[in-house]
Amino acid sequence: MNQKAIDPAMSANFIPSAVHCPRDVERIVEGVATSDGAGVRLTRVLHGALQRRLDPFLMLDAFGSDDPDDYIAGFPEHPHRGFETITYMLAGRMRHRDSAGHEGLLEDGGVQWMTAGRGVIHSEIPQQKDGVLEGFQLWLNLPAARKMSAPWYRDFPASEIPEYVTPENVVVRVIAGTSNGITGAVTREFTEPLYLDIHLPTRATFAAALPESHNAFIYVYRGAAKIGDTKIAAQRMAILRNAEGGDGVIVSATQEETRLILVAGKPLNEPIVQYGPFVMNTRDEIEQAIRDYSSGNFV
Ligand code: MN
Repeated sequence: MNQKAIDPAMSANFIPSAVHCPRDVERIVEGVATSDGAGVRLTRVLHGALQRRLDPFLMLDAFGSDDPDDYIAGFPEHPHRGFETITYMLAGRMRHRDSAGHEGLLEDGGVQWMTAGRGVIHSEIPQQKDGVLEGFQLWLNLPAARKMSAPWYRDFPASEIPEYVTPENVVVRVIAGTSNGITGAVTREFTEPLYLDIHLPTRATFAAALPESHNAFIYVYRGAAKIGDTKIAAQRMAILRNAEGGDGVIVSATQEETRLILVAGKPLNEPIVQYGPFVMNTRDEIEQAIRDYSSGNFV
């Protein structure tokens, strides 16, 4: 594990969460192996059936392979409308190009945040012929009032992702939201997403405050974690129960060094209608998206 020196500026801001009534695990979810784009093999962890339960999150794909045949074809040009995509690259290099004129290279530890808004057409193509490509793509919904907003895009190299280390040597990378006093690369007003990458040494414990109403889950990608009496193995998602008075989560590593992401957000409680890469509130809006795309009306 990557034992970084504590950044004095960061640790000065570190305010440990006091979690008095931790959430427990409602359900363990095993992802579904599938492929997308031009044949990229991935595991769809959060899929359509969980969109309502995990509102405002619409999808989580985990990808990870050292076999180039699993990823080399990438995701050629395709459209999106009505939500945001957050790609977190643990390892590998991928180039993004879109119809709004954005282009960027996503590399080890970097994050790409794209607000599709009223529509973009983009491509996501691996820039390597061998080695490991590993990471996540999370889809975050937009409220009805923002679904047709202007597209937005930004790349955050690893050095721009705020990071802190707890007294138990837990390394926390703050991709979105605020955790233990440290504000991440992106904040969002309507859905208030929290997105942390947490690296726990053997048997270490980490606590994070979570607003009671927010939906939340963890996904373990190395080692094995424990929440209350529930063990969560690698490649499993644990949905955290929403209970009255629940004020956070306390998660521990078992006998192994453990890495996981913690994702939480404020539900929008609006209708969700998805048709492939378009996520709107009504069928009429989906039909409009299809018409706009096929008539070349995306930027
Ligand atoms: Mn895409």
